[in-house]
Amino acid sequence: MMQKKSWDLVVMGAGISGLTAAVRASQRGLKVLLLESGEHDLYLCNSRFTGGAFHIAFHDINEAPEDLFQAIEQVTEGFAHRGLADAMANQARHAVRWLRQQGARFIKAGPDAWRQNFLAPPGLLSTGLHWQGRGGDVTLRVLGQRLESLGGEWLRGWRGCELIMQEGVCTGLIAVCKGEQRHLLAQAVLLCDGGFQGNLELLQEFVSPAPQKLKQRGAATGVGDALRMGREIGAKLSGMENIYGHLLSQDALHDDRLWPYPILDLIAGAGVVINGAAERFMDEGRGGVFMTNCIARLVDPLSACVIFDKAIWDGPATQFILPANPHLVKAGGTIVAADTLSELADKLGLPADALLRTVSEYNRHVNAKHGDVLNPPRSSNGAQPFAVEKAPFYGVRLAAGITYTMGGLATDANAQVLQSKDDRPIAGLYAAGSCTGGLEGGAYAGYISGLVKASVMGLRAADHVAQSLGFEAPPGLATFGSDAPKGQP
Ligand SMILES: Cc1cc2nc3c(=O)[nH]c(=O)nc-3n(C[C@H](O)[C@H](O)[C@H](O)COP(=O)(O)OP(=O)(O)OC[C@H]3O[C@@H](n4cnc5c(N)ncnc54)[C@H](O)[C@@H]3O)c2cc1C
Repeated sequence: MMQKKSWDLVVMGAGISGLTAAVRASQRGLKVLLLESGEHDLYLCNSRFTGGAFHIAFHDINEAPEDLFQAIEQVTEGFAHRGLADAMANQARHAVRWLRQQGARFIKAGPDAWRQNFLAPPGLLSTGLHWQGRGGDVTLRVLGQRLESLGGEWLRGWRGCELIMQEGVCTGLIAVCKGEQRHLLAQAVLLCDGGFQGNLELLQEFVSPAPQKLKQRGAATGVGDALRMGREIGAKLSGMENIYGHLLSQDALHDDRLWPYPILDLIAGAGVVINGAAERFMDEGRGGVFMTNCIARLVDPLSACVIFDKAIWDGPATQFILPANPHLVKAGGTIVAADTLSELADKLGLPADALLRTVSEYNRHVNAKHGDVLNPPRSSNGAQPFAVEKAPFYGVRLAAGITYTMGGLATDANAQVLQSKDDRPIAGLYAAGSCTGGLEGGAYAGYISGLVKASVMGLRAADHVAQSLGFEAPPGLATFGSDAPKGQP
């Protein structure tokens, strides 16, 4: 027998995308159910661990929308879906304003453009994971309370596992908890499960031949349920091969003091990164996120090592948040040092002849400012190269730290999931946050922003559902829909 529809919107996943959407939809008068697989009040997710910077490709979200749009196009080499890029560029600032109105607090965390809007309180200036009472954790609690005050319902400890479809329309989802199963019927379903970084099988299918050799640089609670559920009903996928992450010391695999910081992107971007044969295999000038992807794709992702010298250690290694110099050493990370490159090769177990050849060829072309003739080329778009020539020489074994997967369910600018067969929206089905693809990625794994993507698309999803179901926006409440005028929600 058909069950009566119970909710206007069922949201799967209570990170920042899911909570933002659930609060917004409740504010618009919809009857909302939010489902979260974590049982604990302080269930873990990337939004709870987040660093908290609301930026767009490291630009200030308050820059002119056309400049932000261009920055997105540039870092993704034109990969970003225009509608999604446009939504980010125009509505990031309004998403932040809306979050403030709900009680989230933001601060300016430094002079750089990307530090102008940080969730407060910002992360502690010490290595290792410290999330309790920090910006992400506080914001999730604030949004959770807001949802309850608006009458929205929560189910914690329940995992969405299957979509209910009737004649091509999504009419709900099936959720399980400790052997019990419930059919949750709704006018619309929004998937916000945070990606597939926690699923080794899916990582192997799309990202890395040896995913067990990547370091999870986040909560790893995104296990690809939304992706699997979408694929089962013919949803389109986009940008599956790229991840967002950073380079870590290999010691981070067994030492929690060494992640999420310090990251080694700036050392690797200044020095030479080699594989187990002491050969270069990627362009170190394309930045840490790109290098993380290249290392993840190696047959043995744990074979990568960065070679550098004192000039790099005293220069680029001292920059950025919790820089490697001095934090890598303070937190117990291994740095191998030697007076000659041959001795360094011996200590690292690398072929000495090959290391000398690789570094001398690299130095020759870098000194002549001809990195482009190297194979692979050495660009300087993201990071200036240094010749590695003055003792002492150093080597650090690297791990690719995966924070979230950039690819996922393809959506339009209203967050409606698209069908693979004809690119048309699947009625009743939406997705937002790290389980979606189409904005980030491209040839050089262009990173835009996890938090802006999650909050803008959560808001747009909620508003589109409300609009489709005929809910009028309360007086004075502007909408985030695609029909919103440019420059304001
Ligand atoms: C250390 C760190 C630092 C970061 N710093 C920044 C930063 O400064 N700026 C920035 O923009 N981004 C940053 N990010 C990324 C950003 O935090 C994330 O992209 C964003 O929070 C993702 O939000 P989300 O809602 O998509 O996913 P999540 O926060 O991962 O939430 C997904 C939720 O879905 C739940 N779930 C999963 N499967 C199911 C299921 N089947 N049923 C029900 N629930 C389910 C999970 O338990 C989880 O609670 C950082 C991330 C980390 C880990």
